[in-house]
Amino acid sequence: MKQLLDNEKHSASENIKKITLFDLDHTLFDSASFRQSLFKLLAKNIGKEELIEESQRLYETLLANDGVFNPDKFLSILLEKVEATHKKAELMDIIFDDNHLKEFIHTDVLTSLTKIAQISEIGLFSQGEEKMQRAKIKSIQHFFAKEKIHISINKKSEIKKIFGLYNDYQVFFVDDVLPVLAAVHVHNPAIVTVWIKRGKYAQLQQPLEDFTAHATILSLTELVPIIEKGTN
Ligand SMILES: [Mg+2]
Repeated sequence: MKQLLDNEKHSASENIKKITLFDLDHTLFDSASFRQSLFKLLAKNIGKEELIEESQRLYETLLANDGVFNPDKFLSILLEKVEATHKKAELMDIIFDDNHLKEFIHTDVLTSLTKIAQISEIGLFSQGEEKMQRAKIKSIQHFFAKEKIHISINKKSEIKKIFGLYNDYQVFFVDDVLPVLAAVHVHNPAIVTVWIKRGKYAQLQQPLEDFTAHATILSLTELVPIIEKGTN
């Protein structure tokens, strides 16, 4: 009888669908390196080297004020300052250049997502401006079902809504921002939270008093056994 119950339990746990939701910036996409390269390209195109630092400062101001980087707003302000507004369309094309963007997908993404796709559905939960975020994932978008791409301008406020879509799943959530993982854990402690410790937020992060992620990883390659194992 015990054997039978164990078997039933085992098959029930195997049948539950798995979904892994990924953050985008710093998790899948090397945003800092992208911006460094982008600001150089923009400054070169405008013909003013000093715009590299100016761009970084403006980026930080906009991010602090708006919570997201809006390329259109960024360029409008930047070009106004140097009286080069006629260049806007050309520079927008540089920001959204697919070939440039795809260089900044982290090098462990392709092999890891290929493996994870065998054992779990894959989704995105990202904070940012919609058009920009979609452009960043274009080279890997085949891993994501359309309806499982969630882009928000304020991630924390959408946790309940987005994770509520996956109540029938065993959910894994990977992010570089520890307080976001903590908020997801508060929403539903059954969600497996994985902290990928890379990028500026992770490097500056102090331990949180009341939260530790289920797992902390340095590379997405470490994620595969965590999802395989699940919570059982
Ligand atoms: Mg991130």
